[in-house]
Amino acid sequence: AKQIVLASRPNGPVGRENFRLETKELGAPDVGEVLIKVTAMSLDPYMRGRMDDAKSYAKPVEVDGVMEGGTVGEVLESNADGIAPGDKVFGMTGWCDHAIMRAKDLRKLPDGVPETTALGVLGMPGFTGWYGLTEIGEPKEGETLVVAAATGPVGSMVGQYAKHKGLKVIGIAGGEEKCAHAVEKFGFDACLDHRGFSDAKDARAQIGAACPDGIDIYFENVAGKVLEGVLPNMNTFGRIPICGMIAFYDTGGTAESYDLPKFWRSMLVNRMRAQGFIISDHFDRFPAFLKDVAPLVANGTIKFTEDVAEGLENAPDAFMSMLKGGNFGKQIVRIS
Ligand code: NDP
Repeated sequence: AKQIVLASRPNGPVGRENFRLETKELGAPDVGEVLIKVTAMSLDPYMRGRMDDAKSYAKPVEVDGVMEGGTVGEVLESNADGIAPGDKVFGMTGWCDHAIMRAKDLRKLPDGVPETTALGVLGMPGFTGWYGLTEIGEPKEGETLVVAAATGPVGSMVGQYAKHKGLKVIGIAGGEEKCAHAVEKFGFDACLDHRGFSDAKDARAQIGAACPDGIDIYFENVAGKVLEGVLPNMNTFGRIPICGMIAFYDTGGTAESYDLPKFWRSMLVNRMRAQGFIISDHFDRFPAFLKDVAPLVANGTIKFTEDVAEGLENAPDAFMSMLKGGNFGKQIVRIS
């Protein structure tokens, strides 16, 4: 099997030298295991965190260990009950083209939807958007929501589900093309280009102009300048599900500064609530998510966009590009 391992930990922004492509003999599946041929792999922002040896909610990938990640594939050989060659499955195989996995760690894919949806709109990222919005955001009809990384799998789920619930939705994305996509395809009311924010003050003014009734929910995906522009526009009793802060992931620890005392004051005077969440704590709710959202995807109420890179060997470049906004939609790598 071919696999991509973490060759070294990044010291600053991640580079090609931090990855290595290797070949490994797999052998045959043991009792309870299956051999999988991977067909498509998900690239996600959280993988950047796994490359650092810093205290976090999950263990880092070991140096020389296979990069962590979710994939879809087809069972080639089975030594487990209830799963047969030809079955399509999702599993955390890591960045590779073949893997041996325990059958109990795999999820069978539903028929009737493209298999890659299990990596995006109907997989972990879509679930993250749905969970954070419904459980922490507590959306109410007529309210205003802001979400950045608006065309990605998390942001596009948040915005479309909020529209479905009758909210006004303002997206923030990188570049005119992504902003047009958020409005035209995903049905956002408006979308602002964060590359056009000259500083935090300008972000505040532009976001304020787009949200004349203030912001009730800010779904936090990016932090940085966007967060600084959003906070002064939050309404009393506003809610902030803290999902991610991608503006800080690949900076090598040099996050943009922000004024904590000011932020704290605004939390107090506005009686706001901000809550972080990690989706892996909540997979008991995954069936409820699928029950609610899969029909909305099937009938076209919730749309999705995928960006497909070709070949395992191109995964590191696609990953580095995604961290800078080079992806247009859910970043997937097709494994041939
Ligand atoms: P995306 O596919 O949206 O990719 C990331 C996007 O972030 C880029 O395309 C880019 O979009 C945007 N971005 C990058 N840098 C900046 C910046 N400096 N300022 C503003 N935007 C930036 O990713 P996902 O939908 O998979 O993930 C979105 C967020 O959700 C991430 O922060 C991720 O870590 C988080 N997440 C959290 C989970 C949890 O359990 N808490 C689970 C899953 C995801 P653009 O070009 O539009 O700016």
